[in-house]
Amino acid sequence: MSKPKILILGAGYGGLMTAKGLQKGLSYNEAEVTLVNQNPYHYVTTKLHEPAAGTLHHDYTRVPISSVLDERKVRFVQDRVTAVDREKKVVTLENSNEGLAYDYLVMAMGSAPETFGIQGLLENAYFIRNINSVRMIREHIEYQFSQYHLKGERQDLVTIVVGGAGFTGIEFVGELVDRIPQLCRDYDIPQNKVRLVNVEAAPTALPGFDKDLVEYATNYLESRGVEFKIGIPIESCSPEGVVLKGGEEVKAATVVWTGGVRGNKVVEESGVETMRGRVKVDEFLRAPGHEDIFVIGDSSLIINEEIDRPYPPTAQMATQQGEWLGRNLPLLMRGGDVKPYEFDMKGTLASLGRNEAIGMVGTKKMFGSTPAFLKRANDLRWFYKLGGISMVLRKGKL
Ligand code: FAD
Repeated sequence: MSKPKILILGAGYGGLMTAKGLQKGLSYNEAEVTLVNQNPYHYVTTKLHEPAAGTLHHDYTRVPISSVLDERKVRFVQDRVTAVDREKKVVTLENSNEGLAYDYLVMAMGSAPETFGIQGLLENAYFIRNINSVRMIREHIEYQFSQYHLKGERQDLVTIVVGGAGFTGIEFVGELVDRIPQLCRDYDIPQNKVRLVNVEAAPTALPGFDKDLVEYATNYLESRGVEFKIGIPIESCSPEGVVLKGGEEVKAATVVWTGGVRGNKVVEESGVETMRGRVKVDEFLRAPGHEDIFVIGDSSLIINEEIDRPYPPTAQMATQQGEWLGRNLPLLMRGGDVKPYEFDMKGTLASLGRNEAIGMVGTKKMFGSTPAFLKRANDLRWFYKLGGISMVLRKGKL
């Protein structure tokens, strides 16, 4: 009898933890495990705002997949998944005529930007998505600054609009306030000429965060020159900048959108039931009505019963789901008893540049340098999970 085929799509937090768990938990010859990812490396999504701002080289945020997995136990295929055929149980790839068959499918391909239909956003804004996109943001900003004196000291060249003051938006703005003094020195631009505008449609920055933490974050960032426009949606975006509700125009050569994510397009188009591209999974992380399809990470949706709202998509959740699935998929396959998945919320830490952060650990609110240190320690924890102490020593920067 042929071995069951387990196919994992995406080598992010969820996918890699599933693969690592399976390579440990499956016995020899029990199943054939394949991981597909569009790049030969994993990137640490939670750090992408740093290379985007230019405060960290992007190589610190990526790790070759070959250094994480045991290729004798998990086959790695580098390709882009284009579709899932649930009837035939086959996944199609961009660069191969032959699809990959599966008995069990794990969809872990992260998210896609949600633009809420804002006109021109998709075409004209930049997105913090992956290594390629953050490298482009950094270089784009540098190029705009480099043109300032040559093009009549135009204000828009040194104006950056960040759309969205949620977790990602605030972390990116925090990095930019650290980076701008250096950029100004490099391009001989007085710092008071630079505008950094953070626009948020919701009535508060960092929606869902404790109000003292929000106040600390916004006061700190304002003291470093950030202009907040809160409770004001962006109505349209063009190469000239953005127009806000009410008609105000902010001319900016750089617009970076961080205002929302939805599920991955391949998941959305696979025909399983989705809400804004995310799959409301059952207690075993399966798509409704599909015993053979698991969805984890940003493309999955789990309701927080305490507030009757979905948990926000986080690396914390994706990692835990991947670890759970890596441990429990072999048991499910063997028909054993499995305890349902439950999310264990450890806390939240949002950086405001290198030396400042806010956070909630248990019921304790944290401000300033201590959560900033904890946040960096958390990054090291992830490198440890990926490759033990040698990976921490290679990648770690406290
Ligand atoms: P991802 O980590 O996005 O991985 C998906 C993988 O799938 C990628 O490798 C991608 O290349 C691959 N892939 C996608 N599509 C395809 C395809 N069609 N074919 C093949 N491969 C594909 N969360 C926290 O908990 N704490 C934080 O501090 C935090 N900070 C953040 C800061 C920033 C700047 C951002 C952008 C996000 C942050 N998040 C944070 C959210 C967190 O990064 C995500 O929730 C997490 O990355 C989701 O993990 P995932 O495994 O679902 O997907």
